[in-house]
Amino acid sequence: MQEFLEAITAGASGEELAAIPIPDSYRAAFVRRSDAAMFEGVDSGDKDPREAIRIEEVPTPELAPDEAYVAVMASSINFNTVWTSIFEPLPTFGFLDRLGQESFWGARHALDHHVIGSDGSGVVIGVGSAVRNWKVGDRVTIQCNYVDSQDPSAHNDSMKAANQRIWGFETNFGGLADLSVVKANQLMPKPSHLTWEESAVNALCASTSYRMLVSNNAATMRQGDIVLIWGATGGLGSYATQLVINGGGIPVGVVSSPEKGQLLKEMGCDAVIDRRAEDYQFWSDEHNQDEREWRRFGKRIRELVGEDPDIVFEHPGRQTMGASVFAAKRGGIIVTCAATSGYMIEYDNRHLWMKLKQIVSSHFANYGEAWLMNRLIDRGAIHPTLSDTYTLDNVGEATYQVYNNRHEGKLGVLCLAPEQGLGVTDPEKRAEVGEDLITRFQRHTAAQAKPSS
Ligand code: NAP
Repeated sequence: MQEFLEAITAGASGEELAAIPIPDSYRAAFVRRSDAAMFEGVDSGDKDPREAIRIEEVPTPELAPDEAYVAVMASSINFNTVWTSIFEPLPTFGFLDRLGQESFWGARHALDHHVIGSDGSGVVIGVGSAVRNWKVGDRVTIQCNYVDSQDPSAHNDSMKAANQRIWGFETNFGGLADLSVVKANQLMPKPSHLTWEESAVNALCASTSYRMLVSNNAATMRQGDIVLIWGATGGLGSYATQLVINGGGIPVGVVSSPEKGQLLKEMGCDAVIDRRAEDYQFWSDEHNQDEREWRRFGKRIRELVGEDPDIVFEHPGRQTMGASVFAAKRGGIIVTCAATSGYMIEYDNRHLWMKLKQIVSSHFANYGEAWLMNRLIDRGAIHPTLSDTYTLDNVGEATYQVYNNRHEGKLGVLCLAPEQGLGVTDPEKRAEVGEDLITRFQRHTAAQAKPSS
């Protein structure tokens, strides 16, 4: 891939890039099928992604007609990288094997190594014969909704397609690598004012938050809505907070340190709850929740914004769902896309039905939603929340940081890009959008002198 890097850095044309042969192998971060039982008997919190993630050369797969090869300049860590690398709740090889049984092209994915990663920015270096809208040389970001467009179920909302998958999690050939294989309908234009790493961190978390809050497939936030956001400076939450403010809503952000609280205030979120400082104990023991703690939490929200939340942005799951259902206003919506702290959920159903609340599910975003989200970033209305950048060799360490909640916003990963700060093609637009807004999370994390990559 070195030849591609040199050509891209030298500003080679699409024609020049197309003349470079695709290499037989490439450098990638992956987990091995033979390691899937390596954490058996280890407590969940003690499982260490650094032990499972390997960085080595892997063979380049053949390209299907509807696909593109992308020279990946940068990628990011998502929580699904954590799940894959600790083999929880299940090893991801089952997904690959099922995809492998679907078709001739699907069979390429059922390998004994799983190349991980569900975000990426880079340059198209090869296209299949059926690709119409993209050509070699295009600078792109990649969204992770992987859909079989021939299945009728994919043609209303593709997230409801019978065989919808998340690229790099339920498929092979993910983004934490120097090269990736994606369907053409995963490609979106790279925002010209952002660096490779700033462009790479947005698609998964921002698009998920967009569908949860903005699109009419989930909570459909209105101007003036009060939105309670768990993990408001985390991967999902950092985009949710921006979307609420940008859309005329009123965010109430929950975080777990004064530093994160300060960051929220700098973003324009005035109502901040430090869950650690205020010491909410929603669970009195492993089996019982304490309604008095739900009430104390609800009272705190009213103190801050005068009303109960119209929408609760939920993803921590078991630890918080009881409180989320309680705190939502009469007729309010709890929109959930995850369950980091446990997926067997308990809440008091009386608070749901007597007050006509709704729990609404959401999962990533269809291509249209991801495209609209990318457009908001491209127009400088929403900013990347990249806080720190690692090299591909350090993906294990970066994943470990996310697993242990030691990060803010998003962690970027340099793949082919040799250093940070490259890839901006419109510096004037960058200056107009504002360097301080684009780099807010990076500066905040640097100021706290976190362990460096
Ligand atoms: P993240 O960057 O780690 O952020 C999550 C935030 O949640 C943390 O910053 C933390 O904030 C808060 N949190 C963690 N545990 C908590 C708990 N027990 N109680 C309250 N708050 C807690 O992760 P993310 O990228 O936002 O992803 C969050 C979850 O969503 C993961 O499970 C991920 O797999 C899932 N996800 C699903 C989709 C989808 O399409 N379905 C897409 C993206 C992510 P504080 O410590 O500051 O409170």
